[in-house]
Amino acid sequence: MDLYNYLRKYPDDRGYFEQYGGSFLEEKLIPAFEEITRAYQAICHSSQFISELRRIRKEFQGRPTPVYHCEKLSASVGDGTCQIYLKREDLNHTGAHKLNHCMGEGLLAKYMGKKKLIAETGAGQHGVALATAAAYFGLECEIHMGEVDIAKQAPNVTRMKILGAKVVPVTHGNKTLKEAVDSAFEAYARDYKDAIYCIGSAVGPHPFPMMVRDFQMCIGEEAKEQFKEMTGLLPDAVIACVGGGSNSIGTFVPFVGDPVDIYGVEPLGRGPELGNHAASMSYGTKGILHGFESYLLQDENGEAAPVYSIASGLDYPAVGPEHAMLHDMGRIQYVSVTDDEAMEAFFKLSRLEGIIPAIESAHAVAYAMKLASERKKGALLVTLSGRGDKDIDYVVEHYGYGEKYM
Ligand SMILES: *Cc1c(COP(=O)(O)O)cnc(C)c1O
Repeated sequence: MDLYNYLRKYPDDRGYFEQYGGSFLEEKLIPAFEEITRAYQAICHSSQFISELRRIRKEFQGRPTPVYHCEKLSASVGDGTCQIYLKREDLNHTGAHKLNHCMGEGLLAKYMGKKKLIAETGAGQHGVALATAAAYFGLECEIHMGEVDIAKQAPNVTRMKILGAKVVPVTHGNKTLKEAVDSAFEAYARDYKDAIYCIGSAVGPHPFPMMVRDFQMCIGEEAKEQFKEMTGLLPDAVIACVGGGSNSIGTFVPFVGDPVDIYGVEPLGRGPELGNHAASMSYGTKGILHGFESYLLQDENGEAAPVYSIASGLDYPAVGPEHAMLHDMGRIQYVSVTDDEAMEAFFKLSRLEGIIPAIESAHAVAYAMKLASERKKGALLVTLSGRGDKDIDYVVEHYGYGEKYM
């Protein structure tokens, strides 16, 4: 299917990507989500909205981000023939791809006349990106965050507060992401006349998986043009890491109609036993979480299972519904990479190319290195979703300066 027909077909009017997606909400939230859907469907065809978003991307975010040919990394892998290219989302303002959808969501809020952005955050990366968007648009911002995460992610809490956001501690249950989502939904149900909920990935009830995909597609659209300009060709494969699935879906969808292999890289953490990883597509089964249906890591009672990854941005027990559909269609292959493989890639990319990647992004680089050594030809385009400054204290404490990988 070509891209044009693909985008017309998916999702359908009820937010389904074939059997995945949809909108499973408490009664009181239904009108709020319907309001967002109506507003987005009108605005996404408005030339004024589109040109304003383009201007913001260029002047505030620093888009287009470059594509970079990693000659030294490529030469160090296998027989050195297969070439690795990076789409540098780490050079986006705030250091990761998340601002792509947060600025879109912020602009939508402004067009809808809302005064406040509400969201949850786990590791705090989404909270920081959304607080940035709120500051830019002059909106209030309320971020719900588990107490356990607040203690672990102090620098991101500080960033959010400097940017003017209110951080609401969530004190029930396990005091982490799942409870933070419930708390943000509650706050939104109380306040939806004046506020809008902004999700952190290509997940959640309709219209969020579609909206976040649309806002993130600038990654793949730019990268395709840039790669063609640099080499005259399409890449043989595109690769991105998959947490909830936003940087990856934005990278992949512009290539769905092209003769290009697509790989989504999930975190295998310490190994394949439940509880040791967050590879929802590789090991999950169909289920419902946070208002949408997709692949889910669940226990025998259908509750979301505990997940783990060294990369806190990847440890989510589900994955966006469009990924689930593309997996079942056989269009995208989902593979996984352990903590250790990701850390090796983290140090290699730092030393050989002068780019310190986010540990999340290092998962995609690790798989690209593996694939390059197997393929021995062609070129791979990898989305580097973010920069690693946020990770360096943790890395040095647990891995030193990477002596064991050199
Ligand atoms: C949040 C995050 C991810 C994972 O989120 P997706 O929605 O799967 O893209 C990956 N990389 C970085 C740098 C992140 O901050």
